[in-house]
Amino acid sequence: MTRPSPPFPPPLPLRAPRALPEDPAQAAERDARYMRAALEEARLAEAAGEVPVGAVVVWNDTIIARGHNLPIRSVDPSAHAEMQALRAAAQVIGNYRMPECELYVTLEPCAMCSGAILHARLRHVVFGASDPKTGAAGSVVNLFEQAQLNHQTSIAGGVLADHCGQMLKDFFGARRRAQKAAQQAARQPAPAAAPDQNHDTEA
Ligand SMILES: [Zn+2]
Repeated sequence: MTRPSPPFPPPLPLRAPRALPEDPAQAAERDARYMRAALEEARLAEAAGEVPVGAVVVWNDTIIARGHNLPIRSVDPSAHAEMQALRAAAQVIGNYRMPECELYVTLEPCAMCSGAILHARLRHVVFGASDPKTGAAGSVVNLFEQAQLNHQTSIAGGVLADHCGQMLKDFFGARRRAQKAAQQAARQPAPAAAPDQNHDTEA
């Protein structure tokens, strides 16, 4: 007798999530709290020499997974903070679908991460700074308002945006300064040889 195959996708073994706070001040405090946790992850990325972006996944008012940007170290273009956090969260939940989860990320998600967020069927995403170069939540395109897609995730931006954006500005500013210094050092002529005291022709 063959064993029945497990249901696919497996059912969520979870309690119902707590209701989100309705009071705007409480909701803002909650968003800031989780964004600060995402910023801690961004600092880990920065310490590893990566662009400082961090993310956390929240279920039932608990952080169940964290991730930070790691494409250089892991030699993986998909190793964005959101992807790292989503992969870890799916292992915790035991299901790639996570409709009861929220994701907090310090930078507006790109198209790849927005796609993964929609495949994961997250219920809500909060980001910090906007990304005018690759943002897919309104800055370049908006994948969160495509009614034709099979799932819609609500999204909000601008939480601790100044703090999240400043961390990126500081990182890129320091990197530009280091590159400029390296270029200047490469352009400097080799230091002149010190006059040889034993061959002083003016004697
Ligand atoms: Zn991304």
